[in-house]
Amino acid sequence: MSTILQLGVIMAQLSPVLKQATPVQVTRGEGVYLYDQNDQRYLDFTAGIGVTSTGHCHPKVVAAAQRQVATLIHGQYTTVMHQPLITLTERLGEVLPAGLDSLFYVNSGSEAVEAALRLARQSTGRQNAVVFQGSFHGRTFGAASLTTSGAKIRAGIGPLVPGVTVAPFPYAYRYGLSEQDAVAFALRELDYLFATASPAADIAAFFIEPVLGEGGYVPVPPAFLAGLRERADRHGILLVLDEVQTGFGRTGRFWGHQHSEVEPDILITAKGLASGFPLSAIAASTELMSRALPGSQGGTYGGNAVACAAAIATLEVIQEEGLVANAATTGEQLLAGARRIAADHSAIGDVRGLGLMVASEFVEPDGSPAPAAAARVHRAASDLGLLLLTCGPHGNVVRMIPPLIVDAEQIDQGLEIWSKAVAVGLG
Ligand code: PMP
Repeated sequence: MSTILQLGVIMAQLSPVLKQATPVQVTRGEGVYLYDQNDQRYLDFTAGIGVTSTGHCHPKVVAAAQRQVATLIHGQYTTVMHQPLITLTERLGEVLPAGLDSLFYVNSGSEAVEAALRLARQSTGRQNAVVFQGSFHGRTFGAASLTTSGAKIRAGIGPLVPGVTVAPFPYAYRYGLSEQDAVAFALRELDYLFATASPAADIAAFFIEPVLGEGGYVPVPPAFLAGLRERADRHGILLVLDEVQTGFGRTGRFWGHQHSEVEPDILITAKGLASGFPLSAIAASTELMSRALPGSQGGTYGGNAVACAAAIATLEVIQEEGLVANAATTGEQLLAGARRIAADHSAIGDVRGLGLMVASEFVEPDGSPAPAAAARVHRAASDLGLLLLTCGPHGNVVRMIPPLIVDAEQIDQGLEIWSKAVAVGLG
């Protein structure tokens, strides 16, 4: 059977519930590149949705995983403890905010969000949560109940977990406001929600991403995070930061919230943590974590030994190769380049980002979302050898998330293709 025919048969066997962002079928990955069955090379500015931060198959991560596979694959940490998990916990202690000294491991971002929601409810004795419009926290039921980055994630599955109130997010471009005014507006509306719909004394937690991810790559202004922290402290609310996409150097600081002075009560990490092996965690103070009911959370695969070994190697690569600083400098280069290209195209209404999370928002002449234009540019880029993702509730934002090992030359390569793709797509 020909490869194309084989692919057609397999696609027919896959549920349409899975939507593939590009038509590309890959056979291998190396560094910032993916290769298809004809050995055609693609510059991967998706990093597997912000996961392969050390690049595809970094030799050090590969070696650590191979060693661990031959030593112990599945230790099962609710049955026996194993060394990779102990070492990883020590190493994470060195990079986590001071005071967040207790960890709980699961496999995916969504599961970690579920764990944070349970911990917030159990530890405060309160049931409600406040989330911010456009946020993505995952697809499992609790996480989907906190998610408003696209109605399709909630479509046809309700009723969702009750007690979640959605507050405005300070999305300055969307509201046509300055950042300062957007922050003032969103904080005023939050106080209004306390007075009208969601009594502050009943709220267990605020959930927020330091950069709105799936919802359109909008960095949270530090003043907004500070406003949340102040209200959280005043009303006994926990501040949960979902760093699933922004953590591990992605934004040019180790954690996305480190662009502000604010510290979380619960931090959620996944994606970049283990270079592609399924691993996620929540971190909180020992005191907060001790308020969870022992044995009320667990899981068969959480804290898998191979994933933990890969995560330890990931941390070492990030530190040895200076990837956080690299994300900051190459991120600035990418943002500046994308802004230069946008200057020639009025259909790109806004270019924004933080570190190596950079996005271009496509709009109609009246400023309304232009998803068809974004889709054409996105497709043209993949045809030209640059893999990208779209995001935003309307799918009109095209985002770039290169691996953190990307160098200046590869950023230029990406920008060159991006410039051509924009010309083709808007042509
Ligand atoms: N939170 C954020 C901020 C995310 O970006 C994602 C994944 N895009 C998730 C949670 C869910 O992670 P997962 O897909 O691993 O369940």
